[in-house]
Amino acid sequence: MSLLEEEEDMPPPSPLGASRPPGRRPTREEAEAAVRVLIEWAGDDPDREGLQGTPGRVVRAYEEFFRGYEIDPVDLLQRTFAEVEGYDEMVVLKDIRFESHCEHHLAPIIGRAHVAYLPSGRVVGISKLARLVEVYAKRLQIQEKMTAQIANTLDEVLRPKGVGVVIEAAHQCMTTRGVHKPGVTMVTSRLLGCFRDDPSTRREFLAMIGATGSVPPNV
Ligand SMILES: [Zn+2]
Repeated sequence: MSLLEEEEDMPPPSPLGASRPPGRRPTREEAEAAVRVLIEWAGDDPDREGLQGTPGRVVRAYEEFFRGYEIDPVDLLQRTFAEVEGYDEMVVLKDIRFESHCEHHLAPIIGRAHVAYLPSGRVVGISKLARLVEVYAKRLQIQEKMTAQIANTLDEVLRPKGVGVVIEAAHQCMTTRGVHKPGVTMVTSRLLGCFRDDPSTRREFLAMIGATGSVPPNV
């Protein structure tokens, strides 16, 4: 998202697990027709040879870009493991690369997420943390919302002692349009429980993801 615009109409956070809003989903033909209109709006001819297959390709790409709406993130984490042999140290998965799209311009957001929690009896398979990031990334997003959704879902399902999520990402709506500021990375974080309240837990988390101060390093 552009930091200089659109801040006034920040939507309320959607409830956990919410996916596609109610209402009729357009047909594939309707979606392809909409892409044709955008090609014409750009100033080109959707019937010229090089563009004839483009609406179909764009619609298929959208199915991949936005497949996160098909998956309930709470369901995804449901299978937890209670038998952890008393393990009560921090679990950290860092440098989870993701691709998302900003909900203001449909432009790519490319970044890395670091996800951590301090278990309270229950853990989840480590690949599930990466899948959780993926489910929220493959939706229309703003980075702040995505950060909070990942942290809140982990907190709700695992009920751990604390959760830490840091996301560093570059927004192509800032690099290819608008203010044209390449190389700018946005950092967002959501700390819950002991990650928020206990400075030593917070320090340990930031050290594990390679950040020494309150602000993690840029991508
Ligand atoms: Zn944007």
